[in-house]
Amino acid sequence: MADRRYKPDFAKFTQIPRPKRGEGQWALGYTEPLNKNEQSKKDDDPLNVRGRIIATYSKKGFDSIDPADLRGRFRWMGLYTQRKPGIDGGKTAILEEEELDDRYFMMRVRTDGALLSPAAVRALGEIGRDHARDTADVTDRENIQYHWIEIEDVPTIWDKLDSVGLQSLEACGDSPRPFLGSPVAGIAADEIIDGTSALEEIKRRYLGDPAFSNFPRKFKTSLTGHPSHDTAPEINDVAFVGTVHPEHGPGFDVWVGGGLSVNPHFAGKLGVWIPLDEVADVWAGVAGIFRDYGYRRLRSKARLKFLVADWGVEKFREVLEKEYLGKELVSLESPASPLGHRDHIGVHDQKDGKKYVGIAPTVGRVSGTLLLALADVMDKHGVAGARLTPYQKIVLIGVEATVVDALLDDLDVVGLSARPSNWRRNTMACTGIEFCKLAIVDTKQRSFDLINELEKRFPGLDTPITVNVNGCPNACARTQSADIGLKGQLVLDDEGNQVEGFQVHLGGALGAQANFGRKLRAHKVTSKGLDDYVTALVTNYLAQREAGETFT
Ligand code: SF4
Repeated sequence: MADRRYKPDFAKFTQIPRPKRGEGQWALGYTEPLNKNEQSKKDDDPLNVRGRIIATYSKKGFDSIDPADLRGRFRWMGLYTQRKPGIDGGKTAILEEEELDDRYFMMRVRTDGALLSPAAVRALGEIGRDHARDTADVTDRENIQYHWIEIEDVPTIWDKLDSVGLQSLEACGDSPRPFLGSPVAGIAADEIIDGTSALEEIKRRYLGDPAFSNFPRKFKTSLTGHPSHDTAPEINDVAFVGTVHPEHGPGFDVWVGGGLSVNPHFAGKLGVWIPLDEVADVWAGVAGIFRDYGYRRLRSKARLKFLVADWGVEKFREVLEKEYLGKELVSLESPASPLGHRDHIGVHDQKDGKKYVGIAPTVGRVSGTLLLALADVMDKHGVAGARLTPYQKIVLIGVEATVVDALLDDLDVVGLSARPSNWRRNTMACTGIEFCKLAIVDTKQRSFDLINELEKRFPGLDTPITVNVNGCPNACARTQSADIGLKGQLVLDDEGNQVEGFQVHLGGALGAQANFGRKLRAHKVTSKGLDDYVTALVTNYLAQREAGETFT
């Protein structure tokens, strides 16, 4: 088979002198792998694993899987082995990966901001019910995430996904991870620009393209034309943010190098304006810089945010223009970020006179059965489609005004309320110890219990307070961007025993008040003590706030 992989064109890299100590940047000539992840990707393009899953592994079973595929290249197909049940968080850092591995998989299905028809929601529900022990979570990257998947079922699942235009390709791995698109693209009455065609073009051209299948690490994309900046652009590797140029009209500003985890950075704004039909080219330019100049020596430094921090946005823009686009971009002062909610919960106007309705599954947890019930409700009320949100929520699109009340009642019955409490609306949780091999603590069930308790203790809270619950320092549920950010770790209880708990980060936010939640050393709480800890925080805030003062 011909090797279709990308080979660096050294003639075009003119900007950067080669340092003495290499960081594994291909553009500087460091093409030899400097760690085992890089070696694995060099040994075989991870995209090739799809053929082996279909032809061999699904037929011969789990034990036939090459370990380099199982714990490496499978990720490019949206597949990870899940955590063996019953291994406590204290063992996470001690055991080898193979000791934590179960024989079942997590599968992540990307939606990339697409409108899911009732038939697609039904298909997603059936997969959960028939192949995933009725699991299905809505993630904060607009994915549906299944658990308990068996390798034998993967081709059948892919066929079913394909039949409704969905896929798990490159949903994990050092690849173009699922794109965040505005959940109200093309329909919101207050939209600046509809970016749907640009996201579709990026997907059509570059998803599964060997030229973009080997980044230094994950590469996250966000695109929104909505004034609320509803796709968390501040914390993505590349973000396209709708803005209006005084001469050229609606288009996008470009932000680069955002990300959370242990070294959080907000994205830098390039201060440019690009039209809708150039978004895909600029995406390829930014992704190309990451691929060619990104640091590959240490995984902990291999995100784009480190390169942007070292270069600065001026140099990044210059390299983008000179080496990747071959032209200068139009300058524009970046727009100010908005205040307020970005989750679209509740009933809102569409530009065509219909309504859209944001609903709140608790911490993103749904199930195959619940998705099937949602598909029934959508069919019954003639709902055009659904989109997932970066807040683990769902937005129903194209609702006739006359059916809104009946729709809301039916949604309440199935447990997907458009009128949730603050706590159900504003709490997110990552996968946690139930399935994640990196987890130290439980997150989903702990969040359910916390929400139920806070709804009793603060039933009529009059101001939003966000709570993000994470099972380890990796911040998949965005620890540092919540009012109350919880990072899972072992802590000491009153008797000096190590138990599940959280390091607390306070005062995080995105938008106009963008700020990383501050880690307060003294604020560590046991999982058991979490209800009382949050209660004390909220009680103090309510007692001491001044008029109009938010928790942030
Ligand atoms: Fe797993 Fe940690 Fe991410 Fe939670 S934050 S899903 S525990 S890696």
